[in-house]
Amino acid sequence: EGTTVKELAEKIEVKPKDIMAALLAKGILATINQPLSEEAMREVAREFGYEVTVRSLEEIINDQQDTLAIETDALDDIEPRAPVVAVMGHVDHGKTSLLDAIRNTRVAAGEAGGITQHIGAYSVEVPDPDNREKLRRIVFLDTPGHEAFTMMRARGAKGADVAVIVVAADDGVMPQTIEAIDHARAAKVPIVVAINKIDKPQANVERVKKELSDIGLICEEWGGDTVMVEISAKHRRNLDTLLEMILLTSDLLDLKAPTKRLASGVVLEARLDKGRGPVASVLVQQGTLKVGDPFIVGLHFGRVRALIDDRGRPLTEAGPSVPVEVLGLEGVPKAGDLFQVVDDAARAQELANYRQSKARMAQLMSSAARGLEDMYQQMKSGQLKELLVILKADVQGSVEALREILQKLSNEKVSIRVIRADVGAITESDVMLAAASNDMSHVCIIIGFNVRPAPRVAELAKQERVDIRLHSVIYKVEEEVRKAMIGMLDPLT
Ligand code: GDP
Repeated sequence: EGTTVKELAEKIEVKPKDIMAALLAKGILATINQPLSEEAMREVAREFGYEVTVRSLEEIINDQQDTLAIETDALDDIEPRAPVVAVMGHVDHGKTSLLDAIRNTRVAAGEAGGITQHIGAYSVEVPDPDNREKLRRIVFLDTPGHEAFTMMRARGAKGADVAVIVVAADDGVMPQTIEAIDHARAAKVPIVVAINKIDKPQANVERVKKELSDIGLICEEWGGDTVMVEISAKHRRNLDTLLEMILLTSDLLDLKAPTKRLASGVVLEARLDKGRGPVASVLVQQGTLKVGDPFIVGLHFGRVRALIDDRGRPLTEAGPSVPVEVLGLEGVPKAGDLFQVVDDAARAQELANYRQSKARMAQLMSSAARGLEDMYQQMKSGQLKELLVILKADVQGSVEALREILQKLSNEKVSIRVIRADVGAITESDVMLAAASNDMSHVCIIIGFNVRPAPRVAELAKQERVDIRLHSVIYKVEEEVRKAMIGMLDPLT
C-alpha cells in the first residue's frame, strides 16, 4: 500500500494542506488519508525539494546516510529528548516569578558562566528522579501566558509537551486559569498544577483544590490523577518537587526525536536587530542544527551564520529540544513558523520562492475548511472527527441547556465536543482558541447565545477564519447544528 498524503507530509515536514495544494495544482484532488502513487509522490516531493527513492528496509538499514527524510523512521537515530513546558495561568498569579525563580535557582546550581538572554525559551538542568547523580534538561517557554502557546498551535506547531498551570492560593481559580486549562486540554497536553503563594497568610490551598475539582482537575490525594504541587515562587519553596513532577509527567509521554537528520523546529520569536539583521529564536524539534546549514523558515531562506544559546554563548550545533537564537536570515519570520534545514542553498531559495507563490493558494485552501458550512464536505470525505464548540451565553442556565443539547447531537460520523462553555461576551481569547483548534480533522465554531462579539473581535474572527454563530432561541441552535451535520445548512447571508 502507498504512502498517504499525511505520511508524506510528516516525512518531508510540510503541512498536509500544502501537499494537497501542490497536488491540486497538478489536477489531483486528494484527501489527507489518500495513498499516493509513486509517481505523484515523487513529483510532489520534488516540488518541496526532496528526492524520493523507494527502497527496502534492508537497504535502508545498510545505508544509514541521512539524505532522505522519507526513510528516517527506520534509522536508529531516535533518542530521548527534553520536555518543553509552557507556564500558563491568571494574571498576577506568579507565572513570571515562577519562571524567574526556576531559572535563577537552576542556573546557580548548574554550571556558571554566560549572561541570561531572553530568547523565548530557556533550559535548566534538574536531577533525574530515578538517579540523582544524573542531570536532565527541561525547557521552559519563557513567554508566560497562553499567547505563545496558542499562536504556535494556530500555525500548526505543537506548543509544548507539558502545561504548568499556576494558581495563586490566595485568589483561586480565575477566568484566565480556566482559559489556560482549556488551551492545554484542547491541545491534549498534560497539566501539572502549581498552587503558588502558599507563603501568604490568606493562602487557602484546600479551596483552590476544591475549585479545580469543580472544573474536572482532581488532585491525587482526592482520588484524581492531576499532579498538584504547593509552591512559593517568591520564597523558592518546593520548586524542586515541581520540577521533579514535570519530569515524571513527561516520562509518561516517552518523548523522543531523531537527532541525525536535517534539523527542523519552530520559531519562538523573531525580530530585526539593528546590528545583526533578522534574528529568530528557534526551538529545534528534530535533527541537529549546525552553523552553515541552509534553511527555510516561513517564507524566507537563509544560512546559519551563528547559533547562540539562552546564556548568550555561541554554539556550533543544537539538537532536539534546544532553544537557540539563529543568525543569518534573509527576512523576519513569524512566531510559530516552521524552521527547516535543506540540503543546499539553491534548494532553500527555490523552496522560499515556491512557498511565497503557494502562500496565496494555501490561503484559498484553508478558507475552504473552516466553519459549519464546510463541515459536511469534510465529514463526507472522512476527514472530520470532531466538531468543537465554544459556547458563550448570557446566563448560566442557557450555557448548561445548550451544552447538553449539543452533546446529544453527536452521532457515529462526528462527535461534538464543547471545549469551552462560559457566561459572557465573545472575546479575542475565544477566537484564538477556535483558530488554534481548527485543523484537517476538527472544525471549531463559536456559538453566541444572546451575546455578541465586539467589533474588533468580529474582525479577528474574520482574519482567523473562525465561524461565529449568533442565536437567541435555543431550538434554532439545535436546528442549525443538526442541519450542518446532514449537509442541509442554508448558506450564510
Ligand atoms: P504573572 O502576572 O502571573 O506573571 O505574575 P507575577 O510573577 O508578575 O507575580 C505577580 C505578583 O505576585 C508579584 O508582585 C509577585 O511578587 C507576587 N508573587 C509571585 N509569586 C509569589 C509567591 O509565591 N508569594 C508571594 N507572596 N507573592 C508572589
